[in-house]
Amino acid sequence: MSFSMHGVGVSGGIAIGHAHLVSHALLEVVQYKVPKNLIKQEIARFKEAVSTVRDDLESVRSQLPAKAPAELAAFVSTHLMLLADHTLSEMPIRIIESESCNAEWALKQQMENIVSQFDEIEDDYLRERKHDVVQVVERVIKVLLGHPSQVAIQEQEKAIILVAYDISPADAIQFKQHQFAAFITDVGGATSHTAILARSLSIPSIVALQRARSLIRDGELVIVDGNQGVVIVNPDKDTLSEYKLKQEQWEIEKQKLKRIKLTKAVTLDGTQVELHANIEVPEDVVNVKSVGATGVGLYRTEFLFMNRREMPDEEEQFLAYKNVAEAMDGLPVTIRTLDLGADKEINPDNARTCTNPALGLRAIRFCLSEPQMFHLQLRALLRASHYGNIKILIPMLSSIYELRQTMTLLDKAKKSLIQENQPFQKDIKVGGMIEIPAAALCAEAFARELDFLSIGTNDLIQYSLAIDRTDDTVSHLYNPIHPAIIQLVEMTIRAGQKLNKPVSVCGEMAGDVKLTRLLLGLGLRNFSMHPSNILTVKKQVLQTDLPKLLPIAKKIISSQDSERIEPLLEKMNLL
Ligand code: PEP
Ligand code: MG
Repeated sequence: MSFSMHGVGVSGGIAIGHAHLVSHALLEVVQYKVPKNLIKQEIARFKEAVSTVRDDLESVRSQLPAKAPAELAAFVSTHLMLLADHTLSEMPIRIIESESCNAEWALKQQMENIVSQFDEIEDDYLRERKHDVVQVVERVIKVLLGHPSQVAIQEQEKAIILVAYDISPADAIQFKQHQFAAFITDVGGATSHTAILARSLSIPSIVALQRARSLIRDGELVIVDGNQGVVIVNPDKDTLSEYKLKQEQWEIEKQKLKRIKLTKAVTLDGTQVELHANIEVPEDVVNVKSVGATGVGLYRTEFLFMNRREMPDEEEQFLAYKNVAEAMDGLPVTIRTLDLGADKEINPDNARTCTNPALGLRAIRFCLSEPQMFHLQLRALLRASHYGNIKILIPMLSSIYELRQTMTLLDKAKKSLIQENQPFQKDIKVGGMIEIPAAALCAEAFARELDFLSIGTNDLIQYSLAIDRTDDTVSHLYNPIHPAIIQLVEMTIRAGQKLNKPVSVCGEMAGDVKLTRLLLGLGLRNFSMHPSNILTVKKQVLQTDLPKLLPIAKKIISSQDSERIEPLLEKMNLL
């Protein structure tokens, strides 16, 4: 039966492929009684699942390429060891027998017993090992529930539509290594980091579909229209041909845009605009260059710290930053210091149980509370600055005090390198993210002490409008043209102009072509966005006559009413 679903399109384009349901196996486990005469069979089912997972893991270990990091092999070995331990391989059998319950339930019970013991361990390293237990159990439960293993997915065709309840940023970053056609989720906000990663993967994606995981079955044919936020399941022949045509048109448009790759971004009246790119991993530089971006405006370094056990050491960080700087060949590369916390936990299973993580120990607050770790990052950044045009960007500043603390730590890192005779850019430029309303209101003070400002509209909107950017139940309230947001952005740009300090926008607003003219009208000359948006925005810049739109921009700035702003913006975009 054909049906369609609507959600929030977070990355454009059209994909047609077969659904692959990403399992949240632990969530799916239910308890049921197993009659006494079938207990033996249930135990056999459990043993078989354990042995399937063991075979899978052993085959993964034996196929690891010689160049694979040593920790990857160690990771697989730990899982194999846990699987062989009697607490996981034997104890669940006792539970099946004593409670006459199903194998999944018994294993989940046993996992909870083990995890609660881990929670009491004082040693951080050992306590963290509980996540290995959870992951091993997940694997066995997936087999018990009949889900295909990860290995099987990779062998399938390329046109795979991932259907998940939710995807963490840590998972999404791993998708960069696989060629999925699209992903769709039941929950998630339009500016969540998962959505941002979807855009950087340049694959269509839709969040907040509510019931995709329960209504779509594995293997069903699915159309994902990321432009409209529509998913069509089991389309009929006519719909399928219609979308195949749309898909081709979308691709043709993308190809056409490539013609302006090397054209300078200058408005009709001759105003020059910088279009920089946002990246998450060094490999993204390929995309940055393929669209002719004139710099990296935001390198989110936190992704280097995810999906791993140990923090990257100074050398690893240095090499990552140096690679980007060298690849950009003298063009500016703005590297943001760690912005961990909120929805970007190093390991999402690890998320601290705090009531409001977005208001918690995030970004620069976290770094200042871990000065040794921060020292390594600052040293790595400084060392890399010798090899290119690196600028440092500090996230989530809320007060000048935090900025001064940071500058003291930066001085300390510089001194340590001077003592070691290590070369670095002595007058490296340092900028601050303006993404907390308090910082926008005090933008002048920040502009005085910094070399440049970068407005993070994703967080600025989250904090100003009090809407959790990862929560789809409030995503309808996300409004980049709310008068308060426009005023905060304009105020920040004005502060930069007054003190002659460059201001950019690196939040998702910068890549939204409907807002390009508005931002130009507010005085913005430096945009940073995902590479996939650069050419579309450039086309709009090339077609913009700035003096013509300024009177409308003035009206927008002075308006306190969103409903008045909308038609004014439409008018501006029709000029
Ligand atoms: C922002 O908040 O707008 C921003 C660019 O940073 P991030 O999305 O990584 O929080
Ligand atoms: Mg931010």
